[in-house]
Amino acid sequence: ASMLDITDLHVAVGEDAKPIIKGLNLSVPAGEVHAIMGPNGSGKSTLSYALTGRDGYDVTGGIGFDGADISEMEPEERAARGLYLSFQYPVEIPGVPTLTFLKEALNAQRKARGEDEMSAPDFMKHVRERAAKLDVSADMLKRPVNVGFSGGEKKRMEILQALVLEPRFLILDETDSGLDIDALKVVAEGVNALRSPDRGMLVITHYQRLLDYITPDRVHVMADGRIVASGGPELARELEAEGYDKYVRAA
Ligand code: ADP
Ligand code: MG
Ligand code: MG
Repeated sequence: ASMLDITDLHVAVGEDAKPIIKGLNLSVPAGEVHAIMGPNGSGKSTLSYALTGRDGYDVTGGIGFDGADISEMEPEERAARGLYLSFQYPVEIPGVPTLTFLKEALNAQRKARGEDEMSAPDFMKHVRERAAKLDVSADMLKRPVNVGFSGGEKKRMEILQALVLEPRFLILDETDSGLDIDALKVVAEGVNALRSPDRGMLVITHYQRLLDYITPDRVHVMADGRIVASGGPELARELEAEGYDKYVRAA
């Protein structure tokens, strides 16, 4: 089995249990980066929430992760196993310095795995090495989480958190919010830095442009709650040239 193995996934949301994901199959082996692209409303974000176990999503079907079916597990247990969804909408946390936030997030994860806390000096080294890669300054680490950060700074913070936590499997959902080229490059650098033979990644994106900086192993097109086409990186270029029309009509 692949690291992430989704079989016949159905997800319904809301009071009327509206079906959004309608029989989705997807396998992401360890060591690979897969991209999911698709028009607005095709269910990309719903998929990422269903994978992490967010409340309010009625899920049936299998979600295999590292050989275990996690589809009934609490979000905390999935996170402890190393499944991580990057923040889409950065939360501001007044009064909590970014460094403190990162330390607590890392130690909570270690605790859930039965590991010891990281010592203060080891943690500082761990963060500084990763902050340097992303041009995150010591000053920014002292400021309260995301408070008064520019869009680009929030994006760097989001990626820094992923680099600090070193998840086994990273899901990045880049929404329709207009990322500029610099922010796209920050995301791409983070993804490329996290590439590893024992880590898998799912990069959900509206932007073919992002895939100019990240070369995915596979590209999947999602329409109306299903994967309707899969291919190599050339599929992203085809979508850039031709758009989603033919997939939307076929779905
Ligand atoms: P995407 O990320 O591909 O743009 P979403 O997963 O955000 O798509 O949304 C897919 C569809 O599900 C949309 O039609 C959206 O309106 C609907 N949807 C998402 N969340 C909810 C919800 N909580 N209640 C009702 N409908 C929802
Ligand atoms: Mg959307
Ligand atoms: Mg979305």
